[in-house]
Amino acid sequence: MSDTIDLSKRHFIQTGLIGAASCLVANPALALGRRTTGMKELAFHNLHTDERLRVTFWKNGSFDRAALSKINHILRDFRTGDVFPISANLVELMHDLQTRLRTDVPIEVISGYRSPKTNAMLASQSDGVARKSLHTKGLATDLRMRGIGLRQIQMAALFMKRGGVGYYPKSDFVHVDVGRVRHWG
Ligand SMILES: [Zn+2]
Repeated sequence: MSDTIDLSKRHFIQTGLIGAASCLVANPALALGRRTTGMKELAFHNLHTDERLRVTFWKNGSFDRAALSKINHILRDFRTGDVFPISANLVELMHDLQTRLRTDVPIEVISGYRSPKTNAMLASQSDGVARKSLHTKGLATDLRMRGIGLRQIQMAALFMKRGGVGYYPKSDFVHVDVGRVRHWG
């Protein structure tokens, strides 16, 4: 009889621990104190492939995996076709940037993920491309938004202090990443 009680107690403790652990994994935003209700949407227009996407990437308190996959696809290396997981933090950063700019126009993508091969090729052609670019880790996007000034985008991103911000007026884009807080250009 006492064995049964011990077992059930152990079972309860284990279940409790597993429950707590999976809760942390499934709900990282909860731990960070972000809002857990409502929906978050993003739209993209990939200027190289002319693909368009509008998805709800956040609903019922968590990220929507299918939506994130679609984002990974539209932000893929268009030169090689390689798809890489785009950081959820970067997805949230782009969303929060648009919230700050009070717009929901499509994010025009100049560059998302870059395979190491593509990045090495670009770095050999331009001093402006870092050899260890965060684009190769799914942590950076080069973007612009129709109707929003490049300076406005840059200033909003700088204000947020969520990573790197590069200003490229000649190429008409702003680089945002979720690496160290820094800026250039
Ligand atoms: Zn960039």
